[in-house]
Amino acid sequence: MPLRLYNTLTQQVQEFTPMDGKTVRMYTCGPTVYNYVHIGNLRTFTFQDILRRWLRARGYALNHVMNITDVEDKIIRSAMQQGKTLHEYTEPFEKAFLEDTDALRLERPERLVRATEHIPEMVAAIEKLEQKGFTYQSDGSVYFKISKFAGYGKLSHLDVSGIRAGARVDVDEYDKADARDFVLWKAKRDSEPSWDAPMGAGRPGWHIECSVMAMKYLGDTLDIHAGGVDLTFPHHENEIAQSEALSGKQFSRFWLHAEHLIVEGQKMSKSLGNFYTLRDLFERGYQPEVIRYLLVSVPYRKKLNFTFDGLKAAATSIDRLRNYKLRLDTDKFAAGENAAITERTALALKQFEESLDDDLNTAEALAAIFEYVRDTNSSMDAGEFDEGNRAAAQELFARFDSIMDVLKPTSREVGISEAQIDALIAERVQAKKTKNFQRSDEIRAELLVGGVILEDTKEGMRWKRK
Ligand code: AMP
Ligand code: ZN
Repeated sequence: MPLRLYNTLTQQVQEFTPMDGKTVRMYTCGPTVYNYVHIGNLRTFTFQDILRRWLRARGYALNHVMNITDVEDKIIRSAMQQGKTLHEYTEPFEKAFLEDTDALRLERPERLVRATEHIPEMVAAIEKLEQKGFTYQSDGSVYFKISKFAGYGKLSHLDVSGIRAGARVDVDEYDKADARDFVLWKAKRDSEPSWDAPMGAGRPGWHIECSVMAMKYLGDTLDIHAGGVDLTFPHHENEIAQSEALSGKQFSRFWLHAEHLIVEGQKMSKSLGNFYTLRDLFERGYQPEVIRYLLVSVPYRKKLNFTFDGLKAAATSIDRLRNYKLRLDTDKFAAGENAAITERTALALKQFEESLDDDLNTAEALAAIFEYVRDTNSSMDAGEFDEGNRAAAQELFARFDSIMDVLKPTSREVGISEAQIDALIAERVQAKKTKNFQRSDEIRAELLVGGVILEDTKEGMRWKRK
C-alpha cells in the first residue's frame, strides 16, 4: 500500500506523491518567537519531523521551508514594554527554539526564513492584490475582502454565506464565528515599529507572511502545508485566499494538521498558563528522548493528553528497547538461522512500515516493534534465536530508530567518556582476577555515579548509560 495522508482540504485520507514525483515541497508554520515554545508547540514540530523522515524513507527528497514569525501583535507589545527593538527581543527566543528542536532531535528544515527579512516581497504582494481588486483601505490599513474570493471557507469547511460584508478584523487570531475581512497591512500606530510602503507606513499582518514566503521559495503550488489544528482557521484559510487570489492556482495540494497536546482536557497554551517548556521538563530530570518518545507515541491526529505518568511510561519503554538492543548486539547465539524468526522479523518490518504509510500511525508502528521485542526475547530465552537472525533484527531496529530516534542516550556535557569507561572496566576485570573485590566494587560504584550501569552476564561484562 502506498503512503496515505489525511488532507484537511478534502477531509479524506489520500494517497500522497509529490507533484514532480521526486521532491516534496513543504511549508510548515514555525514559531512566533515571543517566548519559549512549550511542549504543545513541540508536539506539532515533532509530528513534522516524523513526516519528514518518513517521506525520505519512502524515497522522496525534501524541500521544506519553515518561517520564524518575528513581527506580530504580541512581539511588538512585549518588545515595546522592554524598550527593545524587534530583533533584540526575538533573537534569544529564536536561538532557544533551535536549541529545543535540536535537543528533541528534530531535523532542521532545508530553509528557515524570518518574516522581517521579507517585507518588500509582502508589500509587493499586497500591491498586486490591490490591483486585482481583492482589497480595500480603511484608516491607512489594507484589508482582504473575503467576499471577493469565491473559495473562502473551503479549508475549514465553513459556510460564509451569512457573513456580513465589510466587517473587518485587525487582530491576527480570531474564531470561526468572527470570520471577517482580515488585515494585510496594519497602519503604523504611535511609536510602533513600522516599514515604509506605498500604502503608508505600517507592518504586515501575520497571514500574508506565510503566503509570501511559501510562494517565494516553493512556487505557486506546494505539495504539503502543515501546522497545528488551531491554524486551520483563520490562518490557513486566509493563506489560501491570499495565495490563490495572487496566482490563480491551487496553493497547496495537501493540508496536514496536528491535533493538540492537552492538559486536563484543555489545550496547552501560554494564555491558559497550563504549559511546560522543554527546559521545565529537563529540570525535572526528563531526558529529551523520553519527551520525544511521548510526543511521537500518539498518532498526530489524536489529542495527546500530557501527564507525568505518561513521561515515566515513555522512559520505561525506552529502557525496554535499549535493553533488548543491548542483548541483540552482545548475546552469543547458536550458529544457523531460524526460519520462523526470519519470517517474524520480516513481518515486524512490514507492520512498522505499513503503520507509518497509514497516515503516520506511530502508535501502531511502536506496537509492532514491542510485540517483536516480546516474541524474540522469549525466543532468545528458549535458545531459538540464532546467529543468522541477528543482522535482520538489527536492521529492523535501525529502520525503527531512523524514524523514532529514541535509542541513543543524550550525551551529557559533564560525564564519563567511553575511553574512561573502557579503562575502568579493564581495571575492574583485572581487580576481579586478583580477587581485589573491594576495588572491583568501587569501580562499579564510580561508574554508577557517572551514569553508567555495569552488567555481569555469562557472555562477559557489558555496560549501558542510565
Ligand atoms: P505559535 O508559536 O503559537 O504560532 O505555534 C507554533 C505551532 O504550535 C503552531 O503550529 C500551533 O498550531 C502549534 N500549537 C500551539 N499550541 C499547541 C498545542 N497545545 N498542541 C499542539 N500544537 C500546538
Ligand atoms: Zn503560517
